[in-house]
Amino acid sequence: MRQVKLAGEAVIVFMHEFGIMQSTLEIAAQKTRAAGATQIHRLKLRVGKLSGVVPEALRFAFEGLKPESIAAGAALEIEETPAICWCPDCRAEFEAMDLKYECPRCRQPSGDLRSGRELDLASLEIS
Ligand SMILES: [Zn+2]
Repeated sequence: MRQVKLAGEAVIVFMHEFGIMQSTLEIAAQKTRAAGATQIHRLKLRVGKLSGVVPEALRFAFEGLKPESIAAGAALEIEETPAICWCPDCRAEFEAMDLKYECPRCRQPSGDLRSGRELDLASLEIS
């Protein structure tokens, strides 16, 4: 007998995105009904690079969940947004290229992350 090591971590990541997509579809359904519509044709999500969410896993979860939802015929659009930091010394925004959030001008690490952690339902196309 031998033991096979499984990719347990990957399952957890998938579960995470599955739950996120489930809530996204619930919110989208509420918004659609509130607008007097019955169908969703397109959902647009804004996913920050530092949100910890994997866009491919979101798509996978969406494909699995949508047949049971009012988004059955919908397309999913994911806009990945960059990690933007503010450097107080240079008084400028910059895109963080690594997890040290180092300013490309003065090389100081920034503690002021302005965007990049968001996970938003940006828009819906409904009828
Ligand atoms: Zn700087």
